[in-house]
Amino acid sequence: MSALLQAHGVRKAFGDHVVLDAVDLEVAPHTVTALIGASGSGKSTLLRCLNLLETLDDGWIELEGEDITDPRVDADAVRRRIGIVFQAYNLFPHLSVLDNCTLGPRRVLGTPRREAEDEARRLLARFGLEDKAGAYPDRLSGGQQQRAAIARSLAMRPTLLLLDEVTSALDPELVGEVLDAVRELQAEGMTMVLATHEMAFARSVADQVCFLEGGRVVERGTAEQVLGDPQDERTQRFLRRVS
Ligand code: ADP
Ligand code: MG
Repeated sequence: MSALLQAHGVRKAFGDHVVLDAVDLEVAPHTVTALIGASGSGKSTLLRCLNLLETLDDGWIELEGEDITDPRVDADAVRRRIGIVFQAYNLFPHLSVLDNCTLGPRRVLGTPRREAEDEARRLLARFGLEDKAGAYPDRLSGGQQQRAAIARSLAMRPTLLLLDEVTSALDPELVGEVLDAVRELQAEGMTMVLATHEMAFARSVADQVCFLEGGRVVERGTAEQVLGDPQDERTQRFLRRVS
């Protein structure tokens, strides 16, 4: 099957600091790709480029065969197809969890309120948050907030979901429930690209692992290959340091 997403020679610099350098990425449908690498290696910037939150200095990105980095493309329309969940502060604090999940579908997709709410409740139930629909985000634990943020992204029915270190702001005892939510999405066939520093999680969930250093993909392969038997000395060094 052809790739859902392909990044070709992506380059991004901030001033003269090159943050991504000739990054290629290919993501098959219904697979999970984990981006790993030290802080500052470019993981978040790559995810932001994939979602058109950054403009590229070179290269191009195709989603379902369409060049989404073509300047004539409507970036908002592309972002509707690509959900992104960040490390923290994902939810609108002044809206209930339910309204957080229905805002996008109602405003952007034009879904009628009733239908958007039914769908949102279904999603919240899937992530064990059925009793939190009416609550404001500050009444939820960090883990519940992240699960609600994932539900909110899914309410837009994205083709691809990007997750940027969604557990790194959480207390350790809350990490598992968010990782379980990601596993559940994987089981349902959601295509995901996630940046993570949870190596055990990456190993259990990822079909493909890309190790970044200094804005380049230094090594890529199956989780078994990259995490279990890394070939590049830089990957080996990184894994020794984090394990
Ligand atoms: P990671 O997510 O792997 O920690 P990032 O993509 O956040 O890495 O950052 C890669 C590099 O790009 C870092 O050196 C960071 O300081 C730099 N960077 C990221 N965003 C910006 C920005 N908006 N302006 C300037 N430098 C940035
Ligand atoms: Mg980051």
